[in-house]
Amino acid sequence: MKPILTIRKLHVAYGHVHALKGINLELHAGQITALVGANGAGKSTSLLAISGLIKAGSGSIEFDDQDLLTLAPHHIVQKGLVQVAEGRAILGTLTVQENLDLGSYTRKDKAHVAADLDWVFSLFPVLKNRANGLAGNLSGGEQQMLAIGRALMARPKILLLDEPSMGLAPLMVREIFRIIKEINQTGLTILLVEQNVKQALKIAERAYVLENGEMVLEDTGANLLNNPKVIAAYLGT
Ligand code: ATP
Repeated sequence: MKPILTIRKLHVAYGHVHALKGINLELHAGQITALVGANGAGKSTSLLAISGLIKAGSGSIEFDDQDLLTLAPHHIVQKGLVQVAEGRAILGTLTVQENLDLGSYTRKDKAHVAADLDWVFSLFPVLKNRANGLAGNLSGGEQQMLAIGRALMARPKILLLDEPSMGLAPLMVREIFRIIKEINQTGLTILLVEQNVKQALKIAERAYVLENGEMVLEDTGANLLNNPKVIAAYLGT
């Protein structure tokens, strides 16, 4: 089947730092695709390029018969590609409810918005309980839940997650990965960028390993979990 999104020969540089050196990647509808690699490999840069938040030097990112490199970031969001940024970026001085409302701000289908809010609250009951509290008073894990919930309120076609488990306690890490899988089971396509290689490969149908701006491995998540190179470099013994 044709991929929902195709990255071809993408190059990105920050001045003299050649962060992405001609990477290729495909996302398939309804699947979780993981992009893993060490610090500085170029994972965040890949997501920022898809979202249009940094300018690629060359290559293409095809989605919906268009090259995203020609579009402004807000048009890319309107097309349904919604990124949950590393570090979460929720608005701490607004309530939980207000943060969620921001996600659906531009939607006109109010009945569906209400249904999506019910869904987000069922995924994250803590957000319902704390709806009128300030987002800044949530724990790190709860803030991550809010950031994901806010992205879901935009009804994305593709959810781009940048290190959702970063800085969270082990129990919360497991909970976040469980919920990502649950969200995917509704049919939502997800690109999951992670340094937690083991957990990411466990829930991903396909995965890519990025090293120093180059794609060095691509396979099913299950195969990569058993790949000796992946085990040696990222999973330990
Ligand atoms: P991390 O997990 O640390 O975010 P990453 O795999 O997401 O790592 P990137 O953040 O994409 O990696 O960085 C890729 C390369 O680009 C690194 O060498 C990094 O130092 C460099 N880089 C990233 N952002 C900038 C910037 N704004 N200016 C200059 N160099 C940058």
